[in-house]
Amino acid sequence: MQNHIRPWRNIDRRVSRKIHVGSVPVGGDAPISVQTMTNTLTHDAKATIAQVLACAEAGADIVRVSCPDEASTAALHEIVRESPVPIVADIHFHYKRAIEAAEAGAACLRINPGNIGSPERVREVIKAAKDHGCSMRIGVNAGSLERHLLEKYGEPCPDAMVESGLDHIKLLQDNDFHEFKISVKASDVFLASAAYMAIAEATDAPLHLGITEAGSHYAGTVKSAIGMGNLLWAGIGDTIRVSLSADPVEEIKAGFEILKSLGLRHRGVNIISCPSCARQGFDVIATVAELEQRLEHVKTPMSLSIIGCVVNGPGEALMTDVGFTGGGNGAGMVYMAGKQDHKQGNAGMIDHIVELVEKRAVQIEAERDAAREAAE
Ligand code: SF4
Repeated sequence: MQNHIRPWRNIDRRVSRKIHVGSVPVGGDAPISVQTMTNTLTHDAKATIAQVLACAEAGADIVRVSCPDEASTAALHEIVRESPVPIVADIHFHYKRAIEAAEAGAACLRINPGNIGSPERVREVIKAAKDHGCSMRIGVNAGSLERHLLEKYGEPCPDAMVESGLDHIKLLQDNDFHEFKISVKASDVFLASAAYMAIAEATDAPLHLGITEAGSHYAGTVKSAIGMGNLLWAGIGDTIRVSLSADPVEEIKAGFEILKSLGLRHRGVNIISCPSCARQGFDVIATVAELEQRLEHVKTPMSLSIIGCVVNGPGEALMTDVGFTGGGNGAGMVYMAGKQDHKQGNAGMIDHIVELVEKRAVQIEAERDAAREAAE
């Protein structure tokens, strides 16, 4: 939606074709979806399902599982059945795994058709995808470009990645298959950004964004925010995965934070807090850490400001649903919808704020339901 009052907040999304990953639309006017990948052994269906459920609870729209062997695709039946979100099967080279995954109910195959082998095998995989309503993701990666492209270009570069992507696309299109998205990932943010910008011009396929092998939780989140943030801000990207050497749930949280920062998706409580200093009227850092954890279960998009003192507290509270600003004598001021509401002692403040946020979330949901009913 265009923001006419604050036009500097507008992001014009690239126009892409809409496809579906199971029930989740990707591309076109669909919300930018957030996905992750399990790191359990896929053949251990119980462990994989537990991780899929944890990711879905954290907000994952789509979850990918690796299918390196027959035992994995065999477990996929159960995983798909128990998952509340569409499952993408990650396949490398083995065309039979792709067919088995499609048969097992995968919503999407992550596979590069150019790596499958003979044209007959490509046709078989595409037929299985069509028969079972699977979409596909072509996953070009700077680290595994085809040898002839490396020889032609000398090293992984945006042109080589785009050429690889277009070659894979052609194989699908020649077989009249159009339910695909594409990614051109690299661990280098410059290379990934340039490749995505170029592929965005070259095709109308939806784009799956990712900075691959981004690193640890902290470093990888920063790197992903820079690489993907740059692209998303330019309107490029229809679904994202933050790749971290961390729990997949953390990838989901990081993905939402990136989208929330750009106003592209809203989920849960957006906490605005100050860094704290000698003026703080309470321990801001410890309070925010505890609130973040205690409010994790709230899915309703809303904002909360936790500010140490009156220097910035009232101004920040103006823009938030609930606010607390530290004051003197061990107490601070609570703001509701930007307005001063009541005083609250620092002792018991966290419980009080949690209660206010939970109540406000219920109200927001009720208002939203009423508006929806009125519109209908
Ligand atoms: S809002 Fe107050 S306590 Fe927080 S950093 Fe600024 S001056 Fe310090």
